[in-house]
Amino acid sequence: MEKKVYIETYGCQMNVADSEVVVSILSDNGYEYTENINEAELILINTCSIRENAEQRVWGRLKAIGHLKKKKPGLLVGLIGCMAERLKENILEKEHLVDMVAGPDAYRALPLLINDAGSGHKAVNVLLSQEETYADIAPVRMDRNGVTSFVSIMRGCNNMCAYCVVPYVRGAERSRDPESVLGEVMELIKSGYREVTLLGQNVDSYKWEINGERTGFPELLEKVAQADPLLRVRFSTSHPKDISDDLLRVISKYDNICKHIHLPAQSGSNRILKLMNRKYTREWYMDRIRAIREIIPECAVSTDMIAGFCTETEDDHRESLSLMEWSEYDFAYMFKYSERPGSGAARKYPDDVTEETKARRLNDIISLQNKLSTKSKKKEVGRIFEVLIENQSKRSADHLTGRTSQNNVVVFPADGHEKGEYVNVLIERCTSATLIGKIVAIRI
Ligand code: SAM
Ligand code: SF4
Repeated sequence: MEKKVYIETYGCQMNVADSEVVVSILSDNGYEYTENINEAELILINTCSIRENAEQRVWGRLKAIGHLKKKKPGLLVGLIGCMAERLKENILEKEHLVDMVAGPDAYRALPLLINDAGSGHKAVNVLLSQEETYADIAPVRMDRNGVTSFVSIMRGCNNMCAYCVVPYVRGAERSRDPESVLGEVMELIKSGYREVTLLGQNVDSYKWEINGERTGFPELLEKVAQADPLLRVRFSTSHPKDISDDLLRVISKYDNICKHIHLPAQSGSNRILKLMNRKYTREWYMDRIRAIREIIPECAVSTDMIAGFCTETEDDHRESLSLMEWSEYDFAYMFKYSERPGSGAARKYPDDVTEETKARRLNDIISLQNKLSTKSKKKEVGRIFEVLIENQSKRSADHLTGRTSQNNVVVFPADGHEKGEYVNVLIERCTSATLIGKIVAIRI
């Protein structure tokens, strides 16, 4: 009988995609995936190190799983992903909650590590690789809706933003063979998926060269868009220093490439952007937003903002707010700066903004974004959008939910429709996070 593996995923979409690779590797090695933690013989926690509170959450969870371990002798627990890479064998030594540790480039070694751990040996592999992209592994899809999915196109990052731990825990940037990306996309289409999100820490620096033929991100995106006009294509994340007009023209050319760009600014102050090693200025960033508005007028734009980075003053903070106001973001992820041991900022700059000031500035940023999000949603009321249905609404079985090309969530009465279908929805009202409407027969 096959053994059962349960996997819990924290952090970004990249980790979600990695968990699917891990389940694929384990299912070739005698494990069956279960959604029920109580019936698992192996529990894996795929972790995130991006901020301290992400790590705290994992420790809390491991303690809870420790109780299960006591009740079930032989149960193995593995810590995988970014925290495994950051803390390495110290996790096994310091905490007896974990039997094995595997970094993001060591997932092929998991069957061996499980064997070692099962026979009571130390099981750690945190070697980073220059080549590993798991290109040949067909991920086992664990998403529930069967409509939208992620495809990882590259791994690692070379950017060395001063606050960020990603280059250290996920290694150097490497791109995946475009043929294998397209192969995975075709498989998804065959299985009925209607949307893919191409994932990388900086998709604009995707590159692949074979026999003198160079594929950059605009070319890759175009090939994926051409695979099926009924497949929606999204991507994340773009880096403001690298996003090109060529890419914007490809997005504008294809109806099935979604009109949404996540373009994290992080700060609006040139002094802070320089300390962050982001390699662009406020003016450069604004020029990129202007180019988006000009080439793709209907494009939604979202951002990530960090409040209270090292040495940030009230003036710097006001610059962040004014950039947000100018950019009129449709959506934002907003964070308090969290010092990460080993990062450039931790080595070079004092984490000198008090917790209280970070919290207040983050609040300013959140309240401003609430205003901008409400404005962005209100302007859609009265318009008709094509919506890809993703699921039943959580609040009502008679309602469905899906997203517009601009990534706005829409809720509407089902009217006999099902997930995976495209419908046209007239937006009748909104909250700051959701559009609410009804299906109409009119073509857009
Ligand atoms: N590669 C993407 C990029 O450059 O935007 C995403 C990187 S990270 C997974 C997602 C976001 O977390 C970043 O854009 C940044 O806003 C935030 N972040 C990263 N390190 C952080 C830190 N030390 N403290 C607070 N926020 C952080
Ligand atoms: Fe981190 Fe910067 Fe790389 Fe994004 S681009 S993963 S923020 S180092």
